[in-house]
Amino acid sequence: MLRQMAKDAYPALEYFHFKGDTTEVNIAGFFQFIRSHPLFDQTFVPPPQFSDVIAHMKELIQAFGRSVGFDLSKRIAYLDRIVFVSRRDLQKMLPSQNTRAFFRQNDNFKIYVPIDDEHGVNRDWSSVAHSLNHEFIHCVSYQEVHLYGQDKSFKTVKSGMRRLDRFFLLNEALCELTNLYIINRFWPNLVSTKSLWVSAISEISIPEGVSFLNGLIEKLSDEMKLGYDDILTLAHTDLLVGSDQFLDLCRRKISEAMVDELSETRPSDKYDAKYLLGLAGKYRLVSLEERLKQDIINGTEVDLTMLRKIGHV
Ligand SMILES: [Zn+2]
Repeated sequence: MLRQMAKDAYPALEYFHFKGDTTEVNIAGFFQFIRSHPLFDQTFVPPPQFSDVIAHMKELIQAFGRSVGFDLSKRIAYLDRIVFVSRRDLQKMLPSQNTRAFFRQNDNFKIYVPIDDEHGVNRDWSSVAHSLNHEFIHCVSYQEVHLYGQDKSFKTVKSGMRRLDRFFLLNEALCELTNLYIINRFWPNLVSTKSLWVSAISEISIPEGVSFLNGLIEKLSDEMKLGYDDILTLAHTDLLVGSDQFLDLCRRKISEAMVDELSETRPSDKYDAKYLLGLAGKYRLVSLEERLKQDIINGTEVDLTMLRKIGHV
């Protein structure tokens, strides 16, 4: 009985949610497609110690899932599709991307991770682990796949908070804030990840986006008289199950127009502090506006010491 209750306490989340022409034949065709591409194109194999890091990162993603109330084991099973590449090879493949890692849904749901920087110098393993954990979070996020009958093609229309190209910025910011959260709260619990923790936490992708999302969470937490963690848990739930609780709260407590505007963000908006400053001003996110202004005046990187609530150093 106790065992049954424990099991029910953490409902297991399926990896894919199929929509569209969901006949058994089409679903089988989809799985056949994504499994038919062997991962032999790996050009670099990481040292055995890093395999331990990867195994521990997966364990800690699972622990994160349970902390939000879900069993992610079915999704974790997909996290072995990692391809370590040189940055040059990755840029040949994705010319428009200058990225630290990439989760490609239209390519067999693989994660590509460059092992060197723009100058061809090998990255620290802590940096690779940081990027990889970010991509792991995209992977364990809600994945809605639309199937199209005749040619057995498919399209992922929603991933976490993103709906195709809508909410791009918010989804990226939430993924990175979650990355920092998992590194801070969970990585010190296991030996291999603990050894990378200090360096991994000092790195951050899309700091402006994370700063903006943090400002939204603070504002909602004030308005609702709820803790920062309570609001963050709502956002984490949306990320994992594809619900809209966080956005609904933003609509009700901040502004419907802001959510509409956020839905329009394009990939090129994500590094633009001035754009975010405009949003913060327009929707009276006062403390965030002040912070962003200061960062722009100082010409420094966004000050993320305000992420004290998740224990950011
Ligand atoms: Zn990302």
